[in-house]
Amino acid sequence: MTGKRKDYYQILGVPRHATPEEIKKKYRQLALKYHPDRNPGKKTAEEKFKEAAEAYEVLHDPEKRRLYDAYGHEGVSSTGFTGFTDFSDIFRSFSDIFEDLFGFGDLGGRPSQTQAGSDLRYDLALNFQDAALGTEVTIEVPRLINCRTCGGSGAKPGTHKIPCPQCGGRGVISRTHGIFQITTTCSRCGGLKEFIAEPCPTCLGDGQVRERKKLKVRIPPGIDSGTHLVMPGEGNEGRFGGPAGDLFIILQVKPHDLFRRQGQDLYLQVPISYVQAALGSRVTIPTLTGSHDLLIPPGTQPGEIIRVKGQGVPYPKSTRRGDLLVEIKVVIPRHLTPRQQELLKELAQEDPAGQTMSVEAPAPQEGFFKKLWNSITNSGQQ
Ligand SMILES: [Zn+2]
Ligand SMILES: [Zn+2]
Repeated sequence: MTGKRKDYYQILGVPRHATPEEIKKKYRQLALKYHPDRNPGKKTAEEKFKEAAEAYEVLHDPEKRRLYDAYGHEGVSSTGFTGFTDFSDIFRSFSDIFEDLFGFGDLGGRPSQTQAGSDLRYDLALNFQDAALGTEVTIEVPRLINCRTCGGSGAKPGTHKIPCPQCGGRGVISRTHGIFQITTTCSRCGGLKEFIAEPCPTCLGDGQVRERKKLKVRIPPGIDSGTHLVMPGEGNEGRFGGPAGDLFIILQVKPHDLFRRQGQDLYLQVPISYVQAALGSRVTIPTLTGSHDLLIPPGTQPGEIIRVKGQGVPYPKSTRRGDLLVEIKVVIPRHLTPRQQELLKELAQEDPAGQTMSVEAPAPQEGFFKKLWNSITNSGQQ
């Protein structure tokens, strides 16, 4: 500001002893009268609007007013105050005044801060087979997207945002306590710096709405519980041009009735009779993808494990597969027919002490053959 300076009291049209309330009231009237939105393109109105703002800036501040009263314009310059350079400065400074003047259109035009969308988590339960062999599932993810009505601004189409009247578009409120200045996030705009005069009818001013997005998810073969898949950009949409978050799919695999999984190997318990174990046999066992003809060699012991190569779970990103480990469970019949009893007694006579068996068999098996032997010999003695 150069040249001849007008008297601030004259500009506002108040006496030198005017109270702060009177000064504020006069300024409101002038601001309303010369508001740029009410006087588009009128240079004189613009000048008067700026003049009034400068006068108010000085006279509503007790310290600046004291300096102005004592030393005139020079006194105020010594505080570092140099007037306003543009309208947004003015709106920022007198947000409380302009609170009343809502709906006058876009006053600031400053872009909102970009915000990245948050990541989302989706828990997906899979059946054992699908997890082991891979599959494709369609999920519906509830997420926040930018409102298509207002383009995410939150303002009713055709209207604009204005600088937050509470903080003057700074996003923060500063208060001076003695020598300390305490700055807090503005409670009205939550730090967004802007304020919506007329909220968008679709999102009610939020700028974002919920949608349920259908997503096809390819589950690669060989995954296990706790595995997570990341789908970049499928989280909540970012705001004001910010990037979208990611979607994390946490996989939970349901247990199988028959198979137990350890890494890429599968365990399966197969019950066979002691005759099948002793003489050897062929049994059909289930696999992940079908069935398998398993050869049980003669003399197979209870608890013995037969490895079926390549019938386990596929390794991720590989054509290799783990093995199927078949644990042999020998089932002893609880009831014998008289004919079976006879045959077993005959067998016992072939090997009276049961020694051959107990020598060959490891400790746990020894117990059950002994028991078997004892029950047979006992019943034989009666
Ligand atoms: Zn604010
Ligand atoms: Zn909207």
